[in-house]
Amino acid sequence: MNIRIGNGYDIHQLVPGRPLILGGVTIPHDRGLLGHSDADVLTHAIMDAMLGALSLGDIGLYFPPTDPQWAGADSLKLLEQVNQLILTEGWQIGNLDTVVVAERPKLKPHIEAMRLALSTVLKIESNQIGVKATTNEKLGPTGREEGIAAYAVALLICHP
Ligand code: MG
Repeated sequence: MNIRIGNGYDIHQLVPGRPLILGGVTIPHDRGLLGHSDADVLTHAIMDAMLGALSLGDIGLYFPPTDPQWAGADSLKLLEQVNQLILTEGWQIGNLDTVVVAERPKLKPHIEAMRLALSTVLKIESNQIGVKATTNEKLGPTGREEGIAAYAVALLICHP
């Protein structure tokens, strides 16, 4: 078969004193996401979708949170490594589609910057990456602004 599909999900806690980084873009906000790396929840969901498409495990396997070398890591650099892995395996991205679930801040003004940052690292066109944002209608942990979650789907195609 020459196409594969994968999905990814991630959530991180919102805390004071951390930058908010989504899709490689630093977004002005009074809080940021807590995590061992830069806690870029969107980029993490994308990596898991890409790895999942090839049944290659998850990001915890490649970048364990217990490993000090990933402390404060720029998730775009990790994404670059995951992309290199799928290319080496003979696959490339057909398209990605993603959803970020955040009550605040408003993400719409930053969506194009995220698509550009991600597509630049992945060396694909920005029209191969969908980034959508939604609130959780004040319901649950994301709705109470305790965290931000992200979902991603990756379609991979065989190298021509
Ligand atoms: Mg994560």
